[in-house]
Amino acid sequence: MWHLTRVICIAGGKGGIGKTTLVSNLGAALVDLGCNVLAVDSNLTTPNLGIHLGIPLYPKTLHDVLKGKASIAEAIYRHPSGMRVIPAGLSLDDLKGTDPRDLPTALLDVLGIVDIMLLDASAGLGREALAALEAADELLVLTTPDLPSVTDALKTAKLAQQVGTKPIGIVVNRILGRPHEMTRQEICGMLDQPIISEIPEDWNISASIAARTPIVHYRPNSPASRAIKRLAARIAGVEVKESWWRRLFL
Ligand code: ADP
Ligand code: MG
Repeated sequence: MWHLTRVICIAGGKGGIGKTTLVSNLGAALVDLGCNVLAVDSNLTTPNLGIHLGIPLYPKTLHDVLKGKASIAEAIYRHPSGMRVIPAGLSLDDLKGTDPRDLPTALLDVLGIVDIMLLDASAGLGREALAALEAADELLVLTTPDLPSVTDALKTAKLAQQVGTKPIGIVVNRILGRPHEMTRQEICGMLDQPIISEIPEDWNISASIAARTPIVHYRPNSPASRAIKRLAARIAGVEVKESWWRRLFL
C-alpha cells in the first residue's frame, strides 16, 4: 500500500541492548528536526517504552486496540517532547486475548498521519518480534559489539529480509572502545550491511531512564546524545548541525 509514513522497526533479537532507549531518543531527536513522529510499543509481553518516557498509566493502550476495545486514535498519547506514542498495557491481564499478528493491520489506520513511525520490537524472534518486522517498511538493526548480540542481529536481519523489510543499516550501541569488542569490520562482515551509527557506552543513559526523560533532552551534549542526534539527521536526510569546536573538544 502506498503511504507517506516511513515505518521503521528497531530490532536486534537480543534483549537489553538498547532498543527501547533508541526508540525514545531517536523519536525525540527526529521531532527536534521537525519530523512528525509516532513511537509504538510493539513489545507486547514486556513493554517499557511508556516507562522510559515517563508516560503515566494511559487509559487506552495498544492492547485495547488489538482487542478491538479502542480505536488506534484513542491510544495515541502526546508526549511533552512533541512525539506521539502508543503505549502498551502493563498488566498481565492485558495479554489475554491479544494476538500480535493483528499489529500490522492495527497500524494501517495511522499511516499517512505521521512522517515516521518507530516500532520498538520485543526481544527474540517469536510472533511478537515478527509482527513488528512485518508491519515495518524499514529495519534499523541494533547490536552491541559482541558475538552473542551480533548473532541475534543476523537472525533478525534475515527474518526481516524474508518478510520484505528493507535494511537501513546497523546501529552499534554501548561501545566502550575496549580491545575485546568486535571491530566495525567484523560486525559489518557478519551482518553484510553498513554501520550507520555508533553509540558509545554512556552512563547518562541510565540516569536519563531513571529521570524518565530521553537523554537527547536530559543531557543533550553527552556522547550518546550526540551520536543519536547524528543518526536522526541521517534518517531524516538533513545536514548535521554541530559546531566545529564541539566536534573538536567534546
Ligand atoms: P532493550 O529495549 O533492547 O531491552 P533498553 O533500551 O531497555 O534495552 O536498555 C537496557 C539497558 O541498557 C538500560 O537500562 C540502559 O540504561 C542501558 N543502556 C542502553 N544503551 C546504553 C548506552 N549507550 N550506554 C549505557 N547504558 C545503556
Ligand atoms: Mg525494550
